[in-house]
Amino acid sequence: MHKKTASYTQYGMRQLLDTLKPEVRTLISTAQRLAGEKRLRAYLVGGFVRDLFLGASNLDLDIMVEGDGIEYADALSARLNARCIHHKRFGTATLVTEGHLKIDIASSRKETYPEPASLPEVKPGSILDDLARRDFSINAMAVSVNSDDFGMLIDVYGGCRDLKKKRISVLHENSFVDDPTRILRAIRFEQRLAFSISSKTLRYLSVASRKRMLQKLNLQRVRDEIMLMLQEKNPVAQMQRLGGLYGFSFLHPRISFSSKTRKLFESIELCLQWFSRNFSHRRQLDSWLLYCIALFEPLSASSTRQLAKKLALRRGEEKRLLDYKKSGLCILKALQKKAVAPSRVFGYLEPHSYEVILFLVAKAKNATLKRHVEDFFRRYNGIRHSVSGRDLSGLGITPGPLYAKIFRALIKARLDGKVRSKKEELVFVRRLQKSIR
Ligand code: ATP
Repeated sequence: MHKKTASYTQYGMRQLLDTLKPEVRTLISTAQRLAGEKRLRAYLVGGFVRDLFLGASNLDLDIMVEGDGIEYADALSARLNARCIHHKRFGTATLVTEGHLKIDIASSRKETYPEPASLPEVKPGSILDDLARRDFSINAMAVSVNSDDFGMLIDVYGGCRDLKKKRISVLHENSFVDDPTRILRAIRFEQRLAFSISSKTLRYLSVASRKRMLQKLNLQRVRDEIMLMLQEKNPVAQMQRLGGLYGFSFLHPRISFSSKTRKLFESIELCLQWFSRNFSHRRQLDSWLLYCIALFEPLSASSTRQLAKKLALRRGEEKRLLDYKKSGLCILKALQKKAVAPSRVFGYLEPHSYEVILFLVAKAKNATLKRHVEDFFRRYNGIRHSVSGRDLSGLGITPGPLYAKIFRALIKARLDGKVRSKKEELVFVRRLQKSIR
């Protein structure tokens, strides 16, 4: 029989589940009916249960079934009219409902680590096996959705107690050795929730740090965790703690969280707030990438490229990191001057991503540069010319690369106020035609 927590009654848990939004409650009762029909057992697990106790809103549900999770996911997606994405490699599925609820579904499994920091060997297991493979006690609780014991909490590792004590504890001594990414996860949850890593867990962490366990991992495996840390509300606190507990040598010997980097992070934070107050309608930002540019500041372009490859960053992400290395200083210099023609500002900024541009604002902390960027975001970016290709062909210009040149010249002329209407644009093109001839 599963061990229930003494402090949390089934009745109390049902009351807690009653506080959920109606759409989540409907979803849970559909999951319950389906489990009954299929004669398998289903549980809410992981972060959803943790956040339920914390009263934090979490629209990501994690359902664990003792049985075929994929088949269950297919059937549930049909009932909920939800989109179902299979992750064949992991034997899991994600459903996304019309109301944007996300439900991760997996079969309960048992994991063993043949070697430290290796990928685990996985085989089907019970719900208890599944909880035993998890990272921290607060993430290793399950709540039954089955009709015979609906709301029963399974909390074998003292998750409830640790939530009350605001503590992050691993389940066993070898947890960080088995999977060193948990070092980053421990810091992430500690800083997000304003908890403390328990003293025992800190001891295990420092053993893993002495054994340089993160260095033994393929960097692709740490990438997602680093990205998640940089996407948290408090990246400064996240990195400060990582610097203190482990350091950054697993990324590169020259990376550290020095006071200079911390100041840059703080400046980025302010810059992101400024952007979201004024321009959030323009584009969604990969804010983590700005922090990454800051962390990679001490690296040369070629070391940055190598590290981006090791982290298996996407091509667009690598490009943005390198763009800053290549053009950053030159733009910083040019745009700290007051008198710069709008077309020049546009010429400097337009080829770059918003992340690179905002990083420059954060780095320069210079009012003139910020004003140029503001003008770019507000007025220059998105400016259009009125003359079309058909108009150019009407003027007897043969289609070809010249069109792009003319359009660019028209944009510049618009930006600098040299042309204001289509009529003036046509006059401008005719003049240009003459000068080309
Ligand atoms: P978040 O609120 O950040 O989404 P989460 O707890 O839902 O937090 P996920 O990364 O989505 O985090 O993982 C879901 C669950 O899977 C966790 O709650 C944890 O139980 C388990 N888990 C994830 N990564 C690991 C790991 N490296 N080792 C052990 N268990 C893990």
